[in-house]
Amino acid sequence: MKSIIVASNNDHKIKEIKQILSDINVEVKSLKDCNIDIDVVEDGKTFLENSYKKASEIYEYAKEEGMQDFLIMADDSGLEVDYLNGEPGVYSARYAGEHGNNKKNNEKLLEKLKGVPTEKRNASFVCAIVLINSDGKTVKVEERAYGVIKEELSGVEGFGYDPLFFVPEFNKTFAEMTADEKNSISHRGKALDVVKKELNNLI
Ligand code: IMP
Repeated sequence: MKSIIVASNNDHKIKEIKQILSDINVEVKSLKDCNIDIDVVEDGKTFLENSYKKASEIYEYAKEEGMQDFLIMADDSGLEVDYLNGEPGVYSARYAGEHGNNKKNNEKLLEKLKGVPTEKRNASFVCAIVLINSDGKTVKVEERAYGVIKEELSGVEGFGYDPLFFVPEFNKTFAEMTADEKNSISHRGKALDVVKKELNNLI
């Protein structure tokens, strides 16, 4: 079975990627699974730039290590709030300063949107995925999920900004949805659907 090395150590992301790709014949591995200890600096201005940087640095490493017949996949994602001109954007993971502090990030977002009416709280999650195979063939995908930022946290599933991201069609936040529900409409779910179609050209 072909392996895909996902250029991430975010357990939540890896879990979602595994779930979404479970119906195709590939084994999803994290950097940890492959004993790759590289922390790529995410200093790009766009999600695609960051995603490409992560994928290409791991690609170069794999080549130097003499690895053969591999597939690298990187995902860079985040939240863009219209009223905040796209904030937190590429800074989503460290919006409140400390990398990955979801509680503080959500508090900061609520504070920034204090008093802003529902009709001005539109937002989208963005997911940029870059795939590179061992021949250097590269595929880039970017997809979005649309919603509204709630005035308080709701739900316990998922991660990050999920408890604030309300999807009117479901009358639920991402954190109130089952994994299957979220994956069916999420930015990552949509991007990985495109990836699945592209995989045939890369494997
Ligand atoms: P990355 O690891 O640099 O791609 O950072 C992504 C950050 O964006 C995460 O730490 C979350 O704060 C946020 N994010 C991305 N995707 C999701 C999602 O599906 N749900 C909630 N938050 C997300």
